[in-house]
Amino acid sequence: MVKILIDNGHGVNTTGKQSPDGRLHEYAYAREIAKRVEKCLKCKGYDVERIVPEEFDISLSIRCKRVNDICRKVGSKNVLVVSIHNNAVGSDGKWYSARGFTAHVGLNASANSKRLAACLWNKAIELGLKGNRAVPNEKYITQNLAICRDTLCPAVLTENLFQDNKEDVDFLLSEEGKTAITTLHVEGIIDYINNVAK
Ligand SMILES: [Zn+2]
Repeated sequence: MVKILIDNGHGVNTTGKQSPDGRLHEYAYAREIAKRVEKCLKCKGYDVERIVPEEFDISLSIRCKRVNDICRKVGSKNVLVVSIHNNAVGSDGKWYSARGFTAHVGLNASANSKRLAACLWNKAIELGLKGNRAVPNEKYITQNLAICRDTLCPAVLTENLFQDNKEDVDFLLSEEGKTAITTLHVEGIIDYINNVAK
């Protein structure tokens, strides 16, 4: 069985990373979604673990080590990691117009990392979360990201709408929004496991 690892990104002591009106804090939002994703996948019988149970910031090198320790134990091909975030245009306390979901992979991403990103992207589009960002044909954005670059298994970082877009924040904080963000991860990961990770 594939071991699903969820990284909830930043900690309570990470500065910035919030909506201009202070209603959404990225660390708290990512944790809430990570817990919902974990619970939902566990209910469906999947093996899930959050790699950052702590509330405070855990360095990327330690987060990558936690993932890789599991990869070495059960085999990299039997593991995947998704790191949950909210996007932002700036960090200057202003609202911006960029909206929507994007999936990101590392510069050295494996074919399976790209397939996992595409599964998540497809679900996000199905759920109407495309937004107004220029979207690459590949369904993911390639970036130098430690959690993707330095882990041994398929790895994707999701930017779940913009914490400095007013409409996105309203949606993210609604029950409808939380359900949609949770569902895109749960169903995207299951699609990947059923169709790719054989
Ligand atoms: Zn982030």
